[in-house]
Amino acid sequence: MSKVDSNFVLKVQDMFSTKSLFKQYVQAIAIRDNFQYVIVKSNKEVMILQCAIENCKWSLRASCCIHGDRSLWVLTRFDSEHTCLVDVPLSDYRQATFTVTKDLIKNKISLAGFELSTSKDIVHFIRAEHGLSISYQKAWRAHETALDDIRGSPDDSYKMLPRFAYILELNNPGYVVEYKVDVDGRFLYFFMALSASISGWQHCRPIISIDGTSLKNKYGAFCVVDFENDSSWTWFCNQLKRIIGGRNEVVIVSDRHKSICKAIEVVFPNILHCMYLVHLLRNLKLKYKRIMNTVFHACGKTFSIVDFEHKMRLLESSAFGIREKLESIGFAKWSRAYSPRRRYNIMTTSISESLNSAMLKATELPICSILKVLRMMLQR
Ligand SMILES: [Zn+2]
Repeated sequence: MSKVDSNFVLKVQDMFSTKSLFKQYVQAIAIRDNFQYVIVKSNKEVMILQCAIENCKWSLRASCCIHGDRSLWVLTRFDSEHTCLVDVPLSDYRQATFTVTKDLIKNKISLAGFELSTSKDIVHFIRAEHGLSISYQKAWRAHETALDDIRGSPDDSYKMLPRFAYILELNNPGYVVEYKVDVDGRFLYFFMALSASISGWQHCRPIISIDGTSLKNKYGAFCVVDFENDSSWTWFCNQLKRIIGGRNEVVIVSDRHKSICKAIEVVFPNILHCMYLVHLLRNLKLKYKRIMNTVFHACGKTFSIVDFEHKMRLLESSAFGIREKLESIGFAKWSRAYSPRRRYNIMTTSISESLNSAMLKATELPICSILKVLRMMLQR
C-alpha cells in the first residue's frame, strides 16, 4: 500500500513500505471512525496500538519483516471492533494530526493553481469529503507542510540548482542554461532560455523587454538575479547577448533602473534602449507632481514632431523644467516621433509586467520550482 485513501479497509497481512506510512493509515482510520488511540509499544521491530478508551478491545499490531534486501511492515494482528462508545463525538481530534490532513489534501494542491489555498477551504474540504472537524490552526499547518512536501525546502532547492541545470540541458537540446555561484559555491544567478524561444526569436519583432521581479522566499539575498545590482544585470545582458545573435535593429525596452541602463550601455553599445512610458511617468511624478498623464502619454505616442512639440509645450505649462529633464534622458528613448527605429506598440504594453503578475504566486516557491513554473508558462 502506498497512498492513503479514505475508503480503505485494513486487514491482517496488509503490507506497508515504511512504519510511518503504516501510522498514516491508522491515523486516517482514527479520523474517519472518530476515535483516539494510544501507542502501547513502538520500536524498530514492532508497533502495538489500542483504542484510547479503557477496556475497549480495538487494538492492532504491526511487525517489521525483512524481505531480501528491504524491510516491510506487516499488520499481524487486528481487532477492529470497538467495544467502547465510539459514536460519542470527541471534542478534540487528537489523532487527526496535520500529517493525515496533509495527506488528504496533498493531491488537491498543485504548484500552478491552488485549489485549496486557505485554511477555510481545507476545513470545509475535510468536513465535506471526510466528515471530520479540524481546527483552522491544524488546517493551516497541514497546508504549509503539504506545500513543503510538494516544493521541497528552499535550502535543498538551491543546492539542487546545478543538477537541475544539467538535467534541463541534457533533456532539452538547444536550451541555453547558465548559472553562476560565488567563491563559496553559493548560488548567484541563473539564466534560462528555451530552444523554442531562441529559434522563434529570429522571426519575432526585434524588441526585448527587460524587467526585474522579486522572489519572496527566505533567500531574498540570493535570487535569480540577486538584488537588482550592476554585476547581476551585466551578467544577465551578457547571457542575453549570446542568444540574440547577429540581429541588427534590436530595441531593448526596460524601466529606468540605473543598473539596467548601465548594463545595457556596456553590453549593447549599439542597441537602442527605450523606456516604458508608464515607468518613466511614474518616475517623473516624484518630482513633477502636477504632470498631466494623458498629455504625457499622447506626447510619447505621437509619430509627428509638430504634434510632439505642441504636447510638450502643454506639459511645460504644468511642470516647469520637464522639457530639460526629458531632453537629458533623450527623446529617442521614450517618444515615437523622435525614435530612430520602429517601436511598434511595445512602449505602452508592458510584457514583463503581465508576466510578473502571472507568476506572482510562483515567486514564493523555492528556486527550482519557480524555474519549473516559468518554463511551463513559456511553453504554453
Ligand atoms: Zn474503542
